[in-house]
Amino acid sequence: MTFEVLILGSNSSIPVHGRHPTAQIVHHDEQYFLVDCGEGTQMRMAAFKVKRSKIQHIFISHLHGDHYFGLIGLLTSYHLLQRQTPLHIYSPPGLEEIINLQFRYSDTRLVFPLHFHVFSGQTMETLYESDTLTISTLPMQHRIPCCGFLFREKKGLKRLKPGVAERYRLPTPMIAQLRQGKNVWWNDIELKSEEVTTEPPPPATYAFFSDTRYDERLAEPIAGIDLLYHEATFLSGLEERAALTHHSTAAQAALLAQKAGVKHLLLGHFGSRYPELEPLLNEAKAIFPHVQLALEGHRYAVRQPAPSLV
Ligand SMILES: [Zn+2]
Ligand SMILES: [Zn+2]
Repeated sequence: MTFEVLILGSNSSIPVHGRHPTAQIVHHDEQYFLVDCGEGTQMRMAAFKVKRSKIQHIFISHLHGDHYFGLIGLLTSYHLLQRQTPLHIYSPPGLEEIINLQFRYSDTRLVFPLHFHVFSGQTMETLYESDTLTISTLPMQHRIPCCGFLFREKKGLKRLKPGVAERYRLPTPMIAQLRQGKNVWWNDIELKSEEVTTEPPPPATYAFFSDTRYDERLAEPIAGIDLLYHEATFLSGLEERAALTHHSTAAQAALLAQKAGVKHLLLGHFGSRYPELEPLLNEAKAIFPHVQLALEGHRYAVRQPAPSLV
């Protein structure tokens, strides 16, 4: 089952150095979730061949412009392209009012159903649930209400070994029972689930940390997860400025990843003052070795091979 993150924008504040404000696609199975929608997001989607129509759910972490100024453009395109399917937007309070005001003064009456879902940003809340995935908020420590998002896969069904269905000509309900771990009788033969199925891969978890200052309490809800995207707006030496603006240094991102015992760390929300990203990477790597830069246009698997200990 596909579970990966496509980076559309990984810069903070302004588009600069060929980088763009925050936006990413979390692709899980058949679903494409848009996480934040900084300026130019729909152009980044076109550049990386993500069809707009695949998005049914948009998660906005907070109402600083570098995280949602692309939203009105994207919604307008959906309207002009005669979108029919409903769209769900999850955000802190205020976004519905902002968007409705823009549409009111452009005399736009949307042709598709748009549903706003508000989260408080104070506690963890489940925003979305399917048979295979839950998405919850992760309250951040920022200047205004702000949440990250936790994408937690559910344990999947067992998998039928290759050729079993064909050999016994199994009907679909029998296959379903075997995959649930039940034994079945079929044509006077007892088929044992443990003999004809294999275990599914362990469920994987991805956390998107939006803007936040360092706070080790944030490590608890992401303990042991597979992949953490964490902001790295500053280099060490600017901790005071980071605390004042409610952001983190690359070293603090690495420290949090280490405390939480995550498997891999992805650095993003790069400070506009840094044309080169290597110093941010090196600073984090000195503390937490399994770290990469979130590069735009790159896809990062959430379920990665176990890191080498060499
Ligand atoms: Zn930001
Ligand atoms: Zn912010």
